[in-house]
Amino acid sequence: MFVEELLQGRYTAPPRITEFENVEAYDQLIVTGPVELRSMCAHHLMPIYGSAYIGILPSADGKIIGLSKYDRIVNHFSSRLQIQEELVKQIGQYIVKTTQPLGLAVRISAVHMCKTQRGVRASHRSRMVNSYYWGSLSSSPELKSEFLQECLALDRGNLG
Ligand SMILES: [Zn+2]
Repeated sequence: MFVEELLQGRYTAPPRITEFENVEAYDQLIVTGPVELRSMCAHHLMPIYGSAYIGILPSADGKIIGLSKYDRIVNHFSSRLQIQEELVKQIGQYIVKTTQPLGLAVRISAVHMCKTQRGVRASHRSRMVNSYYWGSLSSSPELKSEFLQECLALDRGNLG
């Protein structure tokens, strides 16, 4: 069960991603989420679960990929023993490598059962949030704030 269900991402190749040319040269921010995230803490072998949000600023001469591919990428890198700091980077770096965007952001908000179910027995609402910013999403405070606002709206299920 561990190998088949929990550690699969360690033994399988990343999902095959069909990339398309950005024919319309779309160059505005795209934000997708929440992407369900299920993983296992590498230190305590306890579940980590939560949501990921991904922001992409496509490059006119880069690639675009189908929206469901972001879910598959998150699933792949979550399906192994993880620490959230590495997970957010692995997802971000893989998307950058695959699509060569102008900017990218990944934000993960997750419950760590090693903290809620044992040890300090924190509230089940206690989450860890971290982000990975790359390119223009790293350098532009305006883009960062647009991304975070969209994450909030998506988190609330607010269709805007
Ligand atoms: Zn842990």
